[in-house]
Amino acid sequence: MSATSHTAATPVALPTYADVEAAARRIEGHAHRTPVLTSRTVDELFGAQVFFKCENFQRMGAFKFRGAFNALSRFTPEQRRFGVVAFSSGNHAQAIALSARILGMPSTIVMPKDAPAAKIAATRGYGGQIVLYDRYTEDRLQIGRDLAEKHGLTLIPPFDHPDVLTGQGTAAKELFDEVGALDAVFTPLGGGGLLSGTALSTRALSPKAKLYGVEPEAGNDGQQSFRSGTIVTIDTPRTIADGAQTPHLGDITFALIRQHVDDVLTATDAELVDAMGFFASRMKMLVEPTGCLGFAAAKAMKDQLKGQRVGIVISGGNVDMARFCELVGAAAAA
Ligand SMILES: *Cc1c(COP(=O)(O)O)cnc(C)c1O
Repeated sequence: MSATSHTAATPVALPTYADVEAAARRIEGHAHRTPVLTSRTVDELFGAQVFFKCENFQRMGAFKFRGAFNALSRFTPEQRRFGVVAFSSGNHAQAIALSARILGMPSTIVMPKDAPAAKIAATRGYGGQIVLYDRYTEDRLQIGRDLAEKHGLTLIPPFDHPDVLTGQGTAAKELFDEVGALDAVFTPLGGGGLLSGTALSTRALSPKAKLYGVEPEAGNDGQQSFRSGTIVTIDTPRTIADGAQTPHLGDITFALIRQHVDDVLTATDAELVDAMGFFASRMKMLVEPTGCLGFAAAKAMKDQLKGQRVGIVISGGNVDMARFCELVGAAAAA
């Protein structure tokens, strides 16, 4: 795996928890207030009290609706008229397409050819115009920028945008509002929108909690970046966690992560499959591989969590049924 690094540009002003509160007001009545679930089996296994914030039950099946809806709600009438363009491996695409439809504006979505079929179909179903590209050879940012320039569209990136990440932070805000302060919080980590937004809510509502981001082991650019203090870029990682295949963190997300996060951990694909099977059989819910990252890492360090109150964000539930059966079935048969 080749790794290069560059120094992050210092943003003028980083978003704050007040921006998360403003986002919460904007999405109210549009996003679901998702359930916080507990499991006696998990509590016994951990010797701890574990609270799952279940964004797999969010609209379009992932937390990304929060950031997308928040960002599009802030468009001027002029921006609304021309519409939005987004590039995404799936959930951000669906989130933008659905939010655009609700707000009555056109959307164009740049998606990788090998994105899960269910995600491409769902995005089309929400009214998004799809442009496909090859994620291993083409630059999606360039494609998105070209479309934006040619047609006057506003580009909303999947994570490195203040309105997107503060929208994502509303999930953790709801978690703390519901269960109070926690000792440790785990969230999946791709480009860092969810983790940086969660960091703002955590430092405001549960300042002493240890906060961990969790990446797929095959794509640990965030861990390398966090530990080296500079954004590290890797080749697109090959992992079943398709929502966290980002090659590097964003400038804004990295600045917030450096400031507020305690550590970045990793989970293997095998641990993610194990967690998918557990959620399905014991908690009766469907979680996509990326959505399992937080639980997988928490389980691996459960001995350090004894007696604690632990929050785990389950980030999404969008997985093809055939793919789910293939992954979980093969593990069950082994
Ligand atoms: C996008 C996504 C992530 C990663 O979120 P970032 O904000 O890019 O870090 C994790 N899980 C799911 C289900 C996602 O869709």
